[in-house]
Amino acid sequence: MTIAPAADSALASAFLPSPNHGERRGFVRPDCIILHYTGMATSKGALDLLRDPKSEVSSHYFVDGDGTILQLVPESRRAWHAGVGVWKNERDLNSASIGIEIVNPGHDGALPPFPEAQIAAAIALCRDISSRLGIRPERILAHSDIAPARKRDPGERFPWEALFRAGVGHWIPPVEITGPPLFREKEEAPPIRALQAMLALYGYSVEMTGVYDAPTRTVVAAFQRHFRPARVDGEADASTIQTLRALLDGLGRS
Ligand SMILES: [Zn+2]
Repeated sequence: MTIAPAADSALASAFLPSPNHGERRGFVRPDCIILHYTGMATSKGALDLLRDPKSEVSSHYFVDGDGTILQLVPESRRAWHAGVGVWKNERDLNSASIGIEIVNPGHDGALPPFPEAQIAAAIALCRDISSRLGIRPERILAHSDIAPARKRDPGERFPWEALFRAGVGHWIPPVEITGPPLFREKEEAPPIRALQAMLALYGYSVEMTGVYDAPTRTVVAAFQRHFRPARVDGEADASTIQTLRALLDGLGRS
């Protein structure tokens, strides 16, 4: 019989160990939190998968629909939730992060709203982890932020505003949507390079092509999913660009 380690967070009601973890590489302590939805039909199915040695996936924490928090991997260890992704030029995001899986069937399950109790628990957990590990608000990320071409979670219905109002994450009220997209597909123009530079400055992985190409569109959609969720279409409109600029300005002041 193996004895489960003690939970790192006092908020975890149990430690149900997953075998899927390794040593953090190059990080004494993680400096970001990555939020996910489980994207599976049932909570049990997701939990089983995250603890199945054959799946080779895991997360540090699991937040059930009723707000129950389980820990699966010690915070000191590298859990396997991020996959291939980039943020601020960091590529080993599993080593850099704490991963939190939030139970929700996701886009394939029609993206139902996250229950209030679940969001309250996720907020409390993020606050706890951030304060213990010194993680900055702008380092609380969506899986879709670090892997825009592969991932959409936790999705545009995830209430980032509620988190922010409770002191978790970086957010500003999105600028109102007005006017048409500013760039055509494949258009090449200096303002497109400027937009790419702003996205990269915030942390997204985007090439400075100066062209409104498919990868740029994908990153813009990821940005919208997190920061301007009323319309997630990958179009660079004034609202998207002004919201991004205001977020960057806010960082400059802090
Ligand atoms: Zn994910």
